[in-house]
Amino acid sequence: MKDVKYVFVTGGVTSSLGKGIIAASLAKLLQAQHFKVTIQKFDPYINVDPGTLNPYEHGECFVTEDGAETDLDLGHYERFLNVNTSQDNNVTTGRIYKSVIEKERKGDFLGKTVQVIPHITNEIKQRMLLLGQTGNYDIIITEIGGTVGDIESLPYIESVRQLVWELGKSNVVVIHLTLVPFLASSGELKTKPTQHSVKLLMESGLIADILVCRSDRPLGKEIKHKIALFGNVHPNDVIESLDVCTIYDVPMKMLEEGLNVQVLKKFHLTPTKKVDLSQWKDFLYRIKNPKKKVTIGLVGKYIELTDSYKSILESFIHAGAQLETQVDVRFIHSENVDHDSVTDLLQNLHGVLVAPGFGSRAIEGKLTAIQYIRENKIPFLGICLGMQMAVIEYSRNVSGFKKADSTEQNLETDFPIIDLMTEQKSIVTKGGTMRLGAWECELIEDSKVFKSYNAKTIKERHRHRYEINSQLAMEITDSNFRIVGVNPETDLAEVIEISEHPWFVGVQFHPEYKSTVSQPHPLFVSFIRAGIDYKQRQLVAT
Ligand code: GLN
Repeated sequence: MKDVKYVFVTGGVTSSLGKGIIAASLAKLLQAQHFKVTIQKFDPYINVDPGTLNPYEHGECFVTEDGAETDLDLGHYERFLNVNTSQDNNVTTGRIYKSVIEKERKGDFLGKTVQVIPHITNEIKQRMLLLGQTGNYDIIITEIGGTVGDIESLPYIESVRQLVWELGKSNVVVIHLTLVPFLASSGELKTKPTQHSVKLLMESGLIADILVCRSDRPLGKEIKHKIALFGNVHPNDVIESLDVCTIYDVPMKMLEEGLNVQVLKKFHLTPTKKVDLSQWKDFLYRIKNPKKKVTIGLVGKYIELTDSYKSILESFIHAGAQLETQVDVRFIHSENVDHDSVTDLLQNLHGVLVAPGFGSRAIEGKLTAIQYIRENKIPFLGICLGMQMAVIEYSRNVSGFKKADSTEQNLETDFPIIDLMTEQKSIVTKGGTMRLGAWECELIEDSKVFKSYNAKTIKERHRHRYEINSQLAMEITDSNFRIVGVNPETDLAEVIEISEHPWFVGVQFHPEYKSTVSQPHPLFVSFIRAGIDYKQRQLVAT
């Protein structure tokens, strides 16, 4: 059997230090040396998956090709590595307990008391090793969610401790990410939180091999030495991670600091290739030296926490890089859009994206925004709920069905142009029951969307329960408002567009989940290009 190596990334001192980005950056460097790498995340919360979480809790729910609803860090992994993750790449405490309890009910542990150690830790270890056994990987990087010292993280830390013992030191590397804060009053960087955090890890029996230290200024030799001494590592294993202006700088910083070199040394692995990041550098150059600039509005109801729209925002960056254009995003709360405010809010934008969402809060604002965008011929991309709202707006204001609505927001509507999918009607439980993952869609050849993809059959990821009601679709579509993409098996409408408009596209699926650094999504590229053209036309007209 292949000798797979395992890297574990733990976090200390505080949350939000960017373990996911460090894990993704290390993976990028190892991938650039031709190692086959994947990343997985273990989250200590009890939800079976983040699908039932409000975006305000942990930000966006990222959907994989095989339909897993996962933590947003998986989005970073895919965007950095350009490889798909799957159901197996995100495990939660809920999933672990569910599986152990199901085994207990089946009688698998008959006669035994089922306990955190060994039953929960065995289940965790089995999941931690799974991708190493089923996939074709050289190195598996596992991010442990939460912060060391949290009660709920303990079984994970204990599982890693056991794996170090079982697999041997040369097969497991533990990276600990900490914070080295600067105290303005004393004018000093402080290492004590890091010392305590390493100690806390040791109390759980785990010794960090590498310390990655987040800081807003360079650590310097002395501080590095101090951290090494008290952290029980070699000074070369103290890696500085400075604040940077874009997350895409982090792989370059980790390369400078030699994170990949230190990891490979511990595994006794000799790379056959030098790190080749030429494509990545080109991408970085493009985002830092744009030749043009557009301002795009993002209309949604979760804008207080911009992480709710993480993949959309990253897709703008990827598309912008391809077009050498800086995409400035203006966040617009749909609650603030009404007939009095809409002109002020939208008139200076070069494109507007109406975001996905659930429930009925702030729906009227989205409809008002879309009417303005359609009438003023501003480039528009509607994603999932955003697309459904575009259909309702056209039905009401152009096709004349004043009462048109979605049954998600109004069960009593006389004209349910958006309705629950038939297979959803008998579903009562919420978790993991939406139409999820990648499905095929066939595009009509004389459409703008076909031009963007330059392909007839595409495959995109979904996360929804409602759809365009096929019984009523005929009544609102015309030569101007067309359904230009359908699922070949079910005929489900997937894409709409307006012909007499420079770029008005709505998609039932989520293109943002498939945009990566090396493959910006064609729809985002076309949308931003339409924004550039729109800006140009506005300049000529004034
Ligand atoms: N709430 C809508 C549905 O379930 C849209 C979902 C979304 O925007 N992801 O169909």
